[in-house]
Amino acid sequence: MTAPARRPRETPEERKKRARRIFSLLHKAYPDAHCELDHANAYQLLVATILSAQCTDARVNMVTPALFARFPDAKALADANPAIVEEMIKSTGFYRNKTKSLLGMARALVERHGGDVPRTMEELRVLPGVGRKTANVILGNAFGINEGVTVDTHVMRLSRLLRLTRHDDPIAIEQDLMALYPRKDWALLSHLLIFHGRRICIARRPRCGECVLVRLCPSAQV
Ligand code: SF4
Repeated sequence: MTAPARRPRETPEERKKRARRIFSLLHKAYPDAHCELDHANAYQLLVATILSAQCTDARVNMVTPALFARFPDAKALADANPAIVEEMIKSTGFYRNKTKSLLGMARALVERHGGDVPRTMEELRVLPGVGRKTANVILGNAFGINEGVTVDTHVMRLSRLLRLTRHDDPIAIEQDLMALYPRKDWALLSHLLIFHGRRICIARRPRCGECVLVRLCPSAQV
């Protein structure tokens, strides 16, 4: 019996080329890719990102207008009655923990940063409810600082399907993506992968027949 033909192993240079091609095709497909959490400043984006854990951006966008109107800055949120915040964010799920994170984060901003959102990974990632992923969202989208790549569930899934990484761990995936793409593209890269993951490369039912990456994707099913 003849063994099935195997794809030749991709060299690092070939992978880098393919990765850049993927970026440019996605950029063409989604020229307006952006952060889909509605926000007007870094404080609002921080609140919205904490609320987005295990929740859709669309759902978060339904609760934040009232929340931002009632608690327009870190000082107001730091002094908030937790029961009121819980009630306002209930529909985003895990509302007790999220309320603790929001109030803890707001108090930390007031106590350590004069009510402002800090602009470094070191200061952001130690705020309550904020890890590296959230810090990357804030730095990349509120301040235009490309410190890393935001690796959410879509970015993890697509990076693996597209064989841009073989890792499962978000930190290791982020390192692989940072090595494949120039720093200036890091924030946009995650928006592009997230847009594609929401619209075409949908979990468990990818629409490979409609996908602009079909020729570059080792997981394509066509
Ligand atoms: S070809 Fe299919 S699996 Fe690959 S990125 Fe496109 S939709 Fe996803």
